[in-house]
Amino acid sequence: MPGTLTLVPTPIGNLGDISPRAREALESADFIAAEDTRVTLKLLNFLGIKKSLISYFEHNKAEKGDIILQRILAGESCALVSDAGSPAISDPGEDLVRLCAQSGVPVSAVPGPCAAITALSISALPTGRFCFEGFLSMSKKSRREHLESLRGETRTMIFYEAPHKLVNTLHDLSDTFGGDRPISLCRELTKLHEEVFRTTLAEAAAHYEALPPRGEFVLIVAGAKAASAPKADGADAAARVRELTAQGLTRRDAVKQAAAELGLPKNAVYEAALNIAAK
Ligand code: SAM
Repeated sequence: MPGTLTLVPTPIGNLGDISPRAREALESADFIAAEDTRVTLKLLNFLGIKKSLISYFEHNKAEKGDIILQRILAGESCALVSDAGSPAISDPGEDLVRLCAQSGVPVSAVPGPCAAITALSISALPTGRFCFEGFLSMSKKSRREHLESLRGETRTMIFYEAPHKLVNTLHDLSDTFGGDRPISLCRELTKLHEEVFRTTLAEAAAHYEALPPRGEFVLIVAGAKAASAPKADGADAAARVRELTAQGLTRRDAVKQAAAELGLPKNAVYEAALNIAAK
C-alpha cells in the first residue's frame, strides 16, 4: 500500500495562522518535503515538532521528486510545505502532485493561508470572477505576451510581485490597462505593517516611485469594463489616435493610450492608424 502526499499550508506572516489540522499533518507525516529546510526547521521548532526533512525546490525537483515518490510508494507518508502559504501556488509542488497522482498515490491538501486569496478578499474589488496570474516573467518578451493576453480580461486579476520590481510592474500594468484602472495593493498581509492601498494604476506607480516599496505585495487589479472591452475596432482606434495626436500627443504615446483605453493590442491600433492615414 502506498503512503500519502499531504499539502500543508504554513503562515504567510503570522505564526498564529498555523491550524490544528496543519500541525497534526506535520506531526503525523513520516517525513516532510520542504522548499527550504532551514525555514521549515524554524517553524517546526516553534511547534515543538521533530521530523525528518528532505529539500524539494525548483532546481532539484526532478531528482528529489522521484526520491519522494519512491518513499511514498514504499508506504511512507509525506507532508509537503513551502516557505510560506499554500504549496503548489507559485511555489514548488505542482510537479510532485502530478507525479504522485499519476502513480496512484492519494494526494490531499489541508486548506489554509494563501496570500492571493487573503488579498482578494480584502481588496474591495469584485470577487465573483477572478483569475490568478502569479508573477509576471522577467523576460521582456513573455512579460509582454502575458500582459497582451490580459488586455480584454474582465475578471479581477491577481498578481504576485517582489518589492524591487513593483514600480516597473505598475508602469507595465498601467500601459496595458490604462492609468485609471483600479488596483488594490495588499502589503505585508497578516504582519504588523499590514496595509491595503486602494487606488489606480497611475497613482500607485507615482506613489511608489516617490516612496520605494518595502515588504511583500499582492496586486489585485480590476478587470476591464465588460461593455467597453470587446467592442472597439480599427476605425475606433484610428479615430482615437487622431484625437489624441490633435491634442498634442506623439503618435507613439497616442497609440499607447488608445490601446489601453480601448482594450486593443498596441500593434493593432498602430496598424489601424497607419491604414486610415494612408487612405
Ligand atoms: N504559495 C504562496 C501562497 O500561497 O501565498 C505564495 C508564494 S510566492 C513565492 C511569494 C509571493 O506571495 C510574494 O512575492 C508576494 O507576492 C506574496 N506574499 C506572500 N506572503 C505575503 C504577505 N504576507 N503579504 C503580501 N504578499 C505576500
